[in-house]
Amino acid sequence: MIKENIDNILKELPPEVKLVAVSKFHPVEAIMEAYHAGQHRFGENRPQEFAQKIEEIHGRLGVPREDFVWHFIGHLQTNKLKLVLPYADMVESIDSLHLLEDVNGWGAKNGKVIPVLLEMHIGAEQTKQGFVEEEILDILFKADNYRNVRFCGLMGMATHTDNEDDIRADFARISHFFSYLKDLFPEHGDFKELSIGMSEDWRIAIEYGATIVRIGTAIFGERQY
Ligand SMILES: *Cc1c(COP(=O)(O)O)cnc(C)c1O
Repeated sequence: MIKENIDNILKELPPEVKLVAVSKFHPVEAIMEAYHAGQHRFGENRPQEFAQKIEEIHGRLGVPREDFVWHFIGHLQTNKLKLVLPYADMVESIDSLHLLEDVNGWGAKNGKVIPVLLEMHIGAEQTKQGFVEEEILDILFKADNYRNVRFCGLMGMATHTDNEDDIRADFARISHFFSYLKDLFPEHGDFKELSIGMSEDWRIAIEYGATIVRIGTAIFGERQY
């Protein structure tokens, strides 16, 4: 079933778009099923769960670390950095200046450069974290202050709604801003990822230039909270 779901998505996904299988709340067995179906890139949103699953898969189960690409996609508090940053191949959810500074500081202390996406607030929901355009511009103008992060692009979550026009408006906004940034900062050669699109809206996200889609439910089924 997981294999079939992945195969069906890959049939429609342009080959250059990266599929992050969002395995949060699903057991390691489900991740391993996806792995054996050929999936290598996974996303988790809770620090403890992220670290535990990685330790189990690459420790107890002995799967080579280089077989997996791990994205952290959830809200990250400063006191949880050590659960995430030693493992994450990319942190998609940098959603505040405070977090950015702490991630950069952790990188400096540990001799690492952390690939990150800046999370842009595009949905209508009040609760959704993330930056507005001006804040992102400000960060990128001062990118030299953050030598231990690598700015790889933007991440966003569209409004949770059945109204496709609203979803399109959100994706159009982030996509347009993303293109603008790439033109404005040609020196930021790594700034090339646009992570938009989830189970309900990834097909639309592709139309707006997604380079990464983050899909959970459509691969693993409903989550049991
Ligand atoms: C859970 C989650 C997803 C996947 O959501 P689905 O609707 O299950 O595909 C994608 N992105 C983020 C940031 C998430 O937290």
